Amino acid sequence: MPVHRNKTYTSTCCYCGVGCGVKITLDKNENIAVEGDKDHPVNHGMLCSKGLNLQYTVNDKSDRLLYPQMRYSKSMPLQRVSWDDALNRTAAVFKTFIDKYGPDSVAFYASGQCLTEEYYVINKLIKGFIGSNNIDTNSRLCMSSAVTAYKMALGEDSVPICYDDIELADCFFVTGANPAWCHPILWRRVEAHKAAHPEVKLIIVDPRVTDSCGLADLHLQINPGTDVTLNHAIGRVLIERNYIDTDFIDQRTEGFEAYQKRVFERTLKESAAICGVTVAEIELAASYIGNAKGFLTMWTMGLNQSSIGVNKNLSLINLNLITGHIGKPGSGPFSLTGQPNAMGGREVGGLANLLPAHRDLLNETHRKEVQQFWGGTTISGKVGLTATEMFEALNDGRLKAIWILCTNPITSLPNARFAEQALKKAKFVVVQEITDKAETLVYADVILPAAAWTEKEGTMTNSERRISHLQKVIEPPGEALPDAEIICRFATKMGYKGFTYKSTEDIYKEHTKLTYRSSININGLDYKQIDDCKTVQWPYNKKTESGTKRLFTNHLFHTPSKKAIIHSPSDELKSELPDEDFPFILTTGRVRDQWHTMSKTGKVSKLKQHIKHAFLEIHPIDAALLNISDNQVLVVRSRRGEVQVKSKVSATIKQGVVFLPMHWGKILGSDLNRANNITSTIIDPISKEPDFKYCAVSVEKY
Ligand code: SF4
Repeated sequence: MPVHRNKTYTSTCCYCGVGCGVKITLDKNENIAVEGDKDHPVNHGMLCSKGLNLQYTVNDKSDRLLYPQMRYSKSMPLQRVSWDDALNRTAAVFKTFIDKYGPDSVAFYASGQCLTEEYYVINKLIKGFIGSNNIDTNSRLCMSSAVTAYKMALGEDSVPICYDDIELADCFFVTGANPAWCHPILWRRVEAHKAAHPEVKLIIVDPRVTDSCGLADLHLQINPGTDVTLNHAIGRVLIERNYIDTDFIDQRTEGFEAYQKRVFERTLKESAAICGVTVAEIELAASYIGNAKGFLTMWTMGLNQSSIGVNKNLSLINLNLITGHIGKPGSGPFSLTGQPNAMGGREVGGLANLLPAHRDLLNETHRKEVQQFWGGTTISGKVGLTATEMFEALNDGRLKAIWILCTNPITSLPNARFAEQALKKAKFVVVQEITDKAETLVYADVILPAAAWTEKEGTMTNSERRISHLQKVIEPPGEALPDAEIICRFATKMGYKGFTYKSTEDIYKEHTKLTYRSSININGLDYKQIDDCKTVQWPYNKKTESGTKRLFTNHLFHTPSKKAIIHSPSDELKSELPDEDFPFILTTGRVRDQWHTMSKTGKVSKLKQHIKHAFLEIHPIDAALLNISDNQVLVVRSRRGEVQVKSKVSATIKQGVVFLPMHWGKILGSDLNRANNITSTIIDPISKEPDFKYCAVSVEKY
């Protein structure tokens, strides 16, 4: 598609899952300018600090990878090669491993930042043609606990709400999230709603006092890891005070009796002591919820990234189910997606345990449907390796080759030094990247330069199931290619038919066909229709040309009985507990102006002004006991390694808990400030999501 100056392009911000619309123009030097799209239904022209600075990340091409590189052995240096040479060799190596060790000897590790079309072709390639389910993405580190809980409670991974429910809610329960910093434009809507309706109640659950707490009527500063206990305790009060919707429970749910038994196992006093809050606070939270006509639960990584992430999610969704607050205006569980297109990836089945359009990998009929549609090889019924499992398999030799695209696992995976060791041991590593700063590049046998945001076309889906079309604005630099094109060229080199698309839109149209008759149906939707409607929320009705704001309005769920399931999860924590040697609980998270591992936001000097360095937040009493003052270099150790960062002594964190931001790594500093040197290897047993929010550490002065 030719690009034009004097034309305004529409796109979507490539950072968080809020999915703000932007307008992009080009100047005579082909530099872009970005502004919020005033007509966009999500942000109405507003952008947060990250979105406002998007153009600088694109216009600065000084770090871009410009041509393919390759080395013939680990001891040789990388050298510039042609696309054909790079992909021919990669195909030859993949074929050799597949022939010798089977299809499960290779894997793709992708990203929630991939466009839907990119996810689609990678998924099709490995599941439908190579014959392995070894495709996982960094969404495993982000939303997989929510995905699993939605499936268990509602029958499918379906976010029921729409953003317009914010203005219709009169009680918000925001837990394990700091949306004022991490989902800012959505939070502006909550702030405006609260300002216009001061009677609206806001409950925030967080071990830290964050900026989001400024708006709270009630801040429950719980002990880390005690969310299930808290949610059960609130559930108990809701039952005791008859704040529940008995008709809805009787007619539209299963499992209430067992749930009731579960939440009455602990007294309120016992639960309050475990959580580190008061009984009165639990009762107040329950009364806010019980008196609400519209009740939204909002959450993100504080619940998902846990050894019991699924249980935390289920216990929260239960609060919506027992009060009947689902499928109606202003009500429902509302998972705040961390990445811009984690939702799109889930729709195409782009994880090791999923199939397209919410089909089930373990269902033979579903596998056959997809297999027939793709016309490739038999789709395996064996769940593939998940994110952390891939690196374990590289380390012990089960996995020979890994293809990493659009993500920086050496900073983002837990226990990062182990991930480095695993990549060192890998027989063959392909890195598909935009930046020459990515830490994975030193392990690469083949480097493939990828097009960045605005240099390619495709679609993304935000947290409210809203699909938007991102237009191509400029040509990629050098020989860089769109990710989908790289995958399709490689598939063709492997000898597979079905990857010769005329355009990215053709990939999209193929994906929509697979959604036909599914609960996420968008069959027939094309780029023009998305553009004409600005955006579309799935499922989409082709006849009426309209999307769907809210799910489950008929209270028919996707379970076999069509009833929602109230689960009764245990509150037993499976995390690494503090002890004499490692007496503090470490929790990790984001800062306002940085994104992930800073490969984009780290290029913008304005964004570095807010917080310049990694730091350890520690309570003043803990600091005094260790004779630590503000801004002093500290050594933070766990059983896996250490981090050296400056102290930030602050009463915003609970005593006994310390906080490290997750962004810093080698890209903009040294690996000594990388939080994941010390994070835990424990994962949730069902969702396989890592326990980033809880591990035992020691703290001392350098
Ligand atoms: Fe981008 Fe999220 Fe900020 Fe919107 S809120 S501008 S999507 S980072």
